[in-house]
This record gives sequence, C-alpha cells and structure tokens, in this order.
Amino acid sequence: MNPHMEVVLDEHNPFEAMMSRFDRAAELLHLEPGLYRILRHPDKQVIVSCPVKMDNGDIEVFTGYRVHYNTARGPAKGGIRYGPDVTLEEVNALAAWMTWKCAVVNIPFGGAKGGVICDPVRMSQRELEGLTRRYTAEIMTMLGPERDVPAPDINTNEQVMAWIMDTYSQHVHHTVTAVVTGKPIELGGSLGRRDATGRGCMLVILEALKRLEMPVQGTRVAVQGFGNVGSTTARLCAEAGMTIVAASDVAGGVHNPAGLDMPALLQWRAENRTPAGFPGGDGITNEELLEVSCDVLVPAAVENQIRAHNAGRIQARIICEGANGPTTANADAILDDKGVFVIPDILANAGGVTVSYFEWVQNREGYYWSRERVERRLKKIMVNSFRDVLNYAESHDVNMRTASYMLAIDRVAFVHRLRGIYA
Ligand code: NAD
Repeated sequence: MNPHMEVVLDEHNPFEAMMSRFDRAAELLHLEPGLYRILRHPDKQVIVSCPVKMDNGDIEVFTGYRVHYNTARGPAKGGIRYGPDVTLEEVNALAAWMTWKCAVVNIPFGGAKGGVICDPVRMSQRELEGLTRRYTAEIMTMLGPERDVPAPDINTNEQVMAWIMDTYSQHVHHTVTAVVTGKPIELGGSLGRRDATGRGCMLVILEALKRLEMPVQGTRVAVQGFGNVGSTTARLCAEAGMTIVAASDVAGGVHNPAGLDMPALLQWRAENRTPAGFPGGDGITNEELLEVSCDVLVPAAVENQIRAHNAGRIQARIICEGANGPTTANADAILDDKGVFVIPDILANAGGVTVSYFEWVQNREGYYWSRERVERRLKKIMVNSFRDVLNYAESHDVNMRTASYMLAIDRVAFVHRLRGIYA
C-alpha cells in the first residue's frame, strides 16, 4: 500500500482532516517513508486527572490533555482549550496544525495543544482557578520557556494564563514570564497580542485582493464568529475600506447587502454580547451566512463549518480561514472546482502565534516593544509568508492549502534530516 494513502476520511474527524492534507503534501514532496512515519505521529501525548474541590464541597476529577506534536524546530507552542467536547483526537489535530503553522510563518517553535474536559460556563472563578493550577501542576514537567509555552484558546483567557504562570513560577521558585503567552500586559503580555490574529487575517485578505486584482474599496466581507478573531477582522477590514455585509456568532447573525455600520455593530455587541438582533440589518442563521453574496468569507468560529453539503453554494471569491479547521477536506475539492481562492488556516490565522512569539522574545529580553513595532513586524511576517505560499503554489501548480502544507512539512523535515535520529 502507498504509505501516503493510509487514511480513510471521516469528514468530521479533525485529525483525519489534517492528515488527509498532510498525506497529499507529503506525497507531492516525495517525503522519505521514515520521515513520513515520524511526522504522522505526535511526539508526546499526556493524559492527566485533575481533582478539584468544588464550591459545594464535592471533589470532581477533570481529564486534561497536553500534546507535543513535534518539537524539532523549537519549544512546543500551542493553546489550552476548556470545554465539554474536548477530545484527545481534536487536541492532536490542533497540535499538528500548530506545528505546520509555526513552520509556515517560519518562527522557531514546534507545535503543541492542550485541553481540559469541563464546562467553564458552569464553573465559578475559584473552581476554574483550582482546575487551572492543578492541571498546570500535572503537566509541569512538560512546560517551560525552552520546552512548551501554552497560550489561550477557546474558553481560556489572560487570567487563566496568569494562573498558569504563577503556578509554574511557584514550583521553580522564581517568576518566569516566558512560560506562557497571551498574558495580561502588566504581567509581561505584548501590546498588539489581542488584535494579532484578526490583524493577520486582514493583512492576508489585502494580499489576496492584490493577487486577484480586486479593489479593496467596497469589497464585500461576511464574517462567521464574532469573538476575538471575527470581530477584529471585521473591524480592521472595514477600516481598510471594505464593506461588512454579514456577521454572526453562536446566537445568530445579521445581514445587510448594503453594508453594516461597524462602529454601531461593535457598540451593539458590547451591550448585548452578540451581533444577533442588531437593528441595522436582517436576521440570518450561521448556515445562511456562509452562502450570502459576498467577495470574502471569513469563517472565524469553530471547525467543520464548510463541508461537502454546502461548499457548492458558497458565493465568495476568497475564503480567509480565521478559525482552525473550518473547512473539511471533502469541501476542499468542491471549492477548488469553483475557483475559490482559499487562504488556509495555518497561514491566515498565524498572526496570533506570531505575536505570541514576539511576547516570548520580549519576556526573554526583558525589554518591551511599542505597539507600532509589534504591528510593523507582524505585517512583515504575514505579508512575506503569504507571498512565500503563493509563490510555492504557483511554481508547484497546487492550491494555497497544499502549498502551505508542503512548505511547512518541507521545513520541519529539513531540520529532522539535520538533527538525525537519536537512538
Ligand atoms: P472566541 O471565543 O473569542 O470567539 C468564538 C466566536 O465563535 C464567538 O463569537 C462564538 O459565539 C462563535 N461561535 C461559537 N460556536 C459557533 C457556531 N457553532 N457557529 C457560529 N459561531 C459560533 O474565540 P476566538 O479566539 O475568536 O477563536 C475563534 C477561532 O479562531 C477558533 O477556531 C480558534 O481556535 C481560532 N484561532 C484563534 C486565535 C486567537 O488568537 N484568538 C488564533 C488562531 C486561531
């Protein structure tokens, strides 16, 4: 059997979705079978049980995961996600995506991810702090500025990062800011980190418009997911001259073909916690939003939104994947046939990890950069990475997704060849 074709695709399984793209890129790269086997397996998967005394006096035990997918290029880097549906499969996929993402933008990190099965909405701050500290203690030996540097992800935030930093620091008896990124500014966080992922999305959208010779002014953008990534992308695209025609979150959305008033929408969201119900447009469901008439679609919510069943109805000319894994592998072929220009997640949303890298550098230098310096360097990395992937795609006659995987796998494989096998 062809070693690159071992996977039978389940559209909803994120690890298989990642692997099918990996396999295609590996085949085109003629990756040696030995390296193929190495890169197809996570380096380390740890499962921990975290007992926590709840507010009512009961003791509950939460299952947590931390995965180092690959650390050949540097310390493992990747967020920690809290949620009732977290699975080891999903954490493995996200850790692999982090590996390829760091390689695409050429920053010196490997890939990791963590997750804890819990329902943070139903937990008090005290319970969340207890869980975070115990989880940190359980994975303590994996962590460290030279080993593994977590960051926020879904349902974790700056406060959770501060607890992780403090717990780690208490164990090693001195303050170590560089052990996590996405910290509060006062604890060594970087200016510009909050906006970084959405800013990166806006920058690669501008590059794609340039490549397709489409004007910026009046380009119609629809955004699914109105959290950190979605709302920032929408705001910055509007500031650049684009027209936001639709926005949604888990509670529903709003659509106005003539354009939504962004400052008013952001004000509405601040007061009502959702874009749904905004009076400046008509109500729209999340499914409908994906299919509205627009030039750029930004899925910035969760995985598996664009699947085989709806990919054919998408009208956008450009898809910018703000979320991780919003498009299934089966949908890729349909979008390709339609000539949709997809800016893949591992490139499009890499602005976040890029400024996390800047945060880690600043912590280690003990010298803090201005917002202007952060934004200038982020722009340089995002624009150069977009052009690297585009050139790779054009010279190898593949789409942007395959090009980004090929570029990333090639970079990771290269350092494996240099380092050799320790046995
Ligand atoms: P967030 O929690 O701030 O926002 C998520 C948004 O998605 C919310 O508006 C929520 O209501 C909405 N949402 C949730 N489920 C939905 C559904 N089924 N349909 C429609 N909308 C839904 O999270 P975020 O930080 O903005 O992350 C969004 C995505 O971007 C995730 O896939 C995340 O992994 C990815 N990402 C985030 C960063 C970052 O720096 N924040 C970096 C890279 C990738």
